[in-house]
Amino acid sequence: MDDKLVSEIRARLEDTQEKIARAAQSAGRNPGSVRLVVVTKTHPVESVQAAIQAGAQYLGENYAEEAVAKRTAIGDGRAEWHMIGHVQSRKADLVARYFDMLHSLDSLKLASRLERFSAETSRTLPVLLEVNVSGEGSKFGYPAWAEAQWPALRDDVLQICSLSHLQVRGLMSMPPFADEAEESRPFFVRLRRLQEYLSKQVPAADWAELSMGTSVDFAVAVEEGATLVRVGTAIMGQRQARG
Ligand SMILES: *Cc1c(COP(=O)(O)O)cnc(C)c1O
Repeated sequence: MDDKLVSEIRARLEDTQEKIARAAQSAGRNPGSVRLVVVTKTHPVESVQAAIQAGAQYLGENYAEEAVAKRTAIGDGRAEWHMIGHVQSRKADLVARYFDMLHSLDSLKLASRLERFSAETSRTLPVLLEVNVSGEGSKFGYPAWAEAQWPALRDDVLQICSLSHLQVRGLMSMPPFADEAEESRPFFVRLRRLQEYLSKQVPAADWAELSMGTSVDFAVAVEEGATLVRVGTAIMGQRQARG
């Protein structure tokens, strides 16, 4: 284990935790209601091990095969592995077998395949619906930037809720890249309002989780109600371009 790397990551992790706690307190929220997902995509297995050693409890990965290779190499440890990137339907089996939560469920087709593989392995997969609340940014996610689009979500949501091996837990969004944290605030507010809407429309499901905020804007996301923040660069350092 690279001790220098562990202590660097630990310092940045603690700094991030402190900022989360301050943002939560300023909004009158319990800091314990926010979970920090450390985004380790593209970082080698040694760095992921260092992050776990430094105290990361939740790891975020974007590419199923890369994540499965890392998880297999590390073995069953203390950390939970969360899939936060777009999942192609043909990768559904990897996600159903190797992940503890999916943040980016964005189609009924993917949901049905996840249901099938989760049933095969007798697992229940917690999922968040990815929605696009900006009209730009991620090209994935259910379109939800205008309130007029919200009623159309109902059909897919009801069908997903009927799948017995998937457990809907809330919403996720990836707004466009911001230079300033404040630019993201309107999108975080919109995601929270959509959460309120779906809680009323589909009260049988659990909508408690809001996955929003990255290195640039996680503190603003916490002020607006995030329960999961996804922070990569601010903790792990710069990523190499994906080859
Ligand atoms: C890469 C990624 C992040 C982390 O972004 P940073 O700017 O490195 O903090 C968060 N969420 C998703 C969906 C990502 O793909």
